[in-house]
Amino acid sequence: MTVEKLRKYKEKRDFSETPEPKSNKRIAKGLSFVVQRHDASHLHYDFRIEHDGVLVSWAVPKGPSMDPNDKRLAVHVEDHPLSYGSFEGTIPKGNYGAGTVRIWDSGTYLATGADSKAESEKMITAGLKKGHVAVTLSGKKLKGEFDLIHMQDKNWLLIKKKTRARES
Ligand code: MN
Repeated sequence: MTVEKLRKYKEKRDFSETPEPKSNKRIAKGLSFVVQRHDASHLHYDFRIEHDGVLVSWAVPKGPSMDPNDKRLAVHVEDHPLSYGSFEGTIPKGNYGAGTVRIWDSGTYLATGADSKAESEKMITAGLKKGHVAVTLSGKKLKGEFDLIHMQDKNWLLIKKKTRARES
């Protein structure tokens, strides 16, 4: 249930202090993704994909890369509400994640190979279970196929998939 999924998110935050969203409103048609540059105690980029009513999230210290040779550590963090996808602002000192949040990229996505939202949702659910989530992103900066590969504990790798050489 969405309420249960967002329990950690809500527990960690004092909504009388932080401007971060409390509600879970959908912000885009279809499945959305967002990457937020989060200048907290350690600068990182939060990579979030809409799935099953929430934003499934990873913190990527170095940020995503369009270079297939870069394997970027992506630490699985708590699910965020859909409305977090449009959030930009400053989380005050003393609060969880204190620092500024800016949208670095956003757009829509589907599980790689899926041709509908429903199929995509099924594939992402299966991918999260088996530790290999494949997504095709349509953002402004990030475009094309990416793999999230589970390593151990909360650690995954985010890797841009090599594009096949075009046949002439
Ligand atoms: Mn963060």
